[in-house]
Amino acid sequence: MKRKGILLYSGGLDSLLAAKVLMEQGIELIGLHFILPFASPDYHPEESNSVKYATRIGLSLSHFRCGMEYLEMVKNPPHGYGKEMNPCIDCKIYFLRKAAELMVREKASFVATGEVIGQRPMSQMKNMLLHIEKSVDLKGYLLRPLSARILEPTIAEQGGIVDREKLYGISGRSRTVQFELARKYDIEEYSSPAGGCLFTDRNIAARVRDLFERHPEFNPVDMYLLTIGRHYRIAPELKIIVGRNERENIELEKYAGMADAMFVPEFKGPSIFAKGALNDGDCETICAVAGRYGNYEKGGTVLNARFKNGGIASLECGPKVDDTTLDAMRI
Ligand code: SF4
Repeated sequence: MKRKGILLYSGGLDSLLAAKVLMEQGIELIGLHFILPFASPDYHPEESNSVKYATRIGLSLSHFRCGMEYLEMVKNPPHGYGKEMNPCIDCKIYFLRKAAELMVREKASFVATGEVIGQRPMSQMKNMLLHIEKSVDLKGYLLRPLSARILEPTIAEQGGIVDREKLYGISGRSRTVQFELARKYDIEEYSSPAGGCLFTDRNIAARVRDLFERHPEFNPVDMYLLTIGRHYRIAPELKIIVGRNERENIELEKYAGMADAMFVPEFKGPSIFAKGALNDGDCETICAVAGRYGNYEKGGTVLNARFKNGGIASLECGPKVDDTTLDAMRI
């Protein structure tokens, strides 16, 4: 067996430490780095901090962009959601399946993670770790270098590919040992351990829920746009995304070709991306929202609309929507 492994790499301290612990043994390691669906379609992983941290310790990475296959899992996670729309157990299973595929392609001997037993409430409990391992058919191949000494030896340890004596037996929520190791390995920068991904964010989760329910035919750009602007459901079949600043306006306009209608003001105000079916009265509401966030004194009152069917219109904005009405429409 080759002294080669695949590591689930997040850029967090634990995955950096797991990498160092294995690389110090002379094991060739590939960090598998997942890009979640909220990333911009223009996102280049090379620019991210996670990649910078990996480069610093000499870890080479393979990037995997989570697309529709991943999102199908998020829509219906067999193990359910955490506090918000985060399907952590099934997400972990998905990541490990991809790592197992890479292990086979790369003829590597094991898959490693930076998991620490008992550190997180749901996905890192010992029983859950074992359940996940079984679900992905990696029994015996899944190595947790930071907690290995309190777990059954893996095949790589038994076969002498990984020296078990040089692994750790960390458990629990205290991070003391990890911080000591960080000092030992001179690791000063890493991604924050707090929080989780945007699926755990209450506001974003509400938007994800709305998208899944109201626009089940959504695409990856719709997922990215959940992170931009203010979102309002102005009719059961129609959602609008309202830019909050120049950067967001530019970003929304960039994806205008994927909108059912795009609205750009002549006055200083928000660009608005509409998704769904437009009916009578909807343009009036959109004008009222544009007015609420815009400034008619700077550039007049005209909102230019371009519809998916190729139609265009110059709409005259009138009264602004009041905040109570707006709040009721907020997603
Ligand atoms: S926090 Fe997000 S990325 Fe992490 S396991 Fe949960 S769903 Fe997956």
